[in-house]
Amino acid sequence: FRNVANMLTRINNELGVFLTFLRLCVCRIIELNNNSPPLTFKRFQTIVSRLELPRRPLPAITQQQMDSCQRQIGDNHDQLYSIPSLEELGFRTERLPPAVWRGGESEALDRLSKHLDKKVWVASVEHTRVNKCSLYASPTGLSPYLRFGCLSCRVLYYNLRELYMKLRKRCSPPLSLFGQLLWREFFYTASTNNPNFDRMEGNPICVQIPWDQNPEALAKWAEGRTGFPWIDAIMTQLRQEGWIHHLARHAVACFLTRGDLWISWVSGMKVFEELLLDAGWSVNAGSWMWLSCSAFFQQFFHCYCPVGFGRRTDPSGDYIRRYIPILKDFPNRYIYEPWNAPESVQKAANCVVGVDYPKPMVNHAESSRLNIERMKQVYQQLSHYRGLSLLASVPTIQEEAEPPMTDESQASSGPGRHRGRCVRG
Ligand SMILES: Cc1cc2nc3c(=O)[nH]c(=O)nc-3n(C[C@H](O)[C@H](O)[C@H](O)COP(=O)(O)OP(=O)(O)OC[C@H]3O[C@@H](n4cnc5c(N)ncnc54)[C@H](O)[C@@H]3O)c2cc1C
Repeated sequence: FRNVANMLTRINNELGVFLTFLRLCVCRIIELNNNSPPLTFKRFQTIVSRLELPRRPLPAITQQQMDSCQRQIGDNHDQLYSIPSLEELGFRTERLPPAVWRGGESEALDRLSKHLDKKVWVASVEHTRVNKCSLYASPTGLSPYLRFGCLSCRVLYYNLRELYMKLRKRCSPPLSLFGQLLWREFFYTASTNNPNFDRMEGNPICVQIPWDQNPEALAKWAEGRTGFPWIDAIMTQLRQEGWIHHLARHAVACFLTRGDLWISWVSGMKVFEELLLDAGWSVNAGSWMWLSCSAFFQQFFHCYCPVGFGRRTDPSGDYIRRYIPILKDFPNRYIYEPWNAPESVQKAANCVVGVDYPKPMVNHAESSRLNIERMKQVYQQLSHYRGLSLLASVPTIQEEAEPPMTDESQASSGPGRHRGRCVRG
């Protein structure tokens, strides 16, 4: 089903038509941007602010309308047309745990109402810091439902709008309220008329970076065997549950590409496409290009540390203990870097690094330093063609403090959800 959905999205994109597009006027946006898709979010927002409101979603079908249908639903309808079970599709289900994400519109609407309650709560406490709870599948998460059409993005848009107007006594909401939805629309628009949006070669908006070919390292990353518990826990959650938090996506995407392994974003994107429930052709490719500094030229060079980033989010390492149970008895101090634990501690935790759990596959400090240099060279060459301002956005190699991350800061600061700084560990 997911492959069919991917194919439809791709066909959609190639035709320049977006079934789930909020405003259904990609062509108008492109026209207003001198006949090419805007490639900065700021420009996109400026154009969107000039457009009329999206069409209201149609009301739900009533029982009365159903009763007035000439053709009645046959007794054998379910037998003929119901959704096949996993077993009928040939999957083995004996040892599968219960699904974390239940499908369907009823579930989507229930989540929407919780999502709106959370928005009210968040508005009342200003910023909520990302913490370990944010990392787990949340009952307010909507992306798989938007992606499969269980929830219409226009329903979400108008619910957000009405909520805001109720809270702010009927004044019109700022565009930033819809920031996350707009990011989705931004990537849809950016990919319009670009059938090579999901690859590096032949993609006019993508910087050509000489990534390494390393199938073995790619497999270690994809299967959660890097030896960095934070990265491995995220990739395990992705494989088991089909969803990971936005910042967890940042962590593993950075690790695979410009951070540590210097492997092409296209390989990472394909793994996400296979495993993510919310995988979408435009958003996935666009986010990977962004994260790997391959497109969209914002200052997006902070390099996440695969030890420090997780530790700041979840100091006790409970997230790691849940997804990598072999590490569960390590003391908090070593859970993010078990290779540094004395042998006696490793033995007491029943997990010897190199035997029961892999050694780290790279030296992060060295590889990230080298990769930033490589990125600098790429941008140095590019700046000959596109101006020196490009080079100015490449970071110098120095340690900086990470700014606080909040669940709600994405709208203003980009798909990174926190303002750009170089973070090295
Ligand atoms: C490398 C990478 C790959 C990604 N691939 C996808 C993908 O294939 N499909 C996808 O929907 N999102 C993708 N994202 C964006 C984002 O991580 C998810 O949309 C978000 O984590 C979904 O969680 P949520 O439902 O709690 O979103 P919320 O925070 O509740 O946001 C509401 C909705 O807005 C949209 N949205 C939120 N953030 C973004 C964003 N940065 N870009 C575009 N849309 C956004 C989603 O549809 C989401 O359901 C990717 C991000 C990265 C860094």
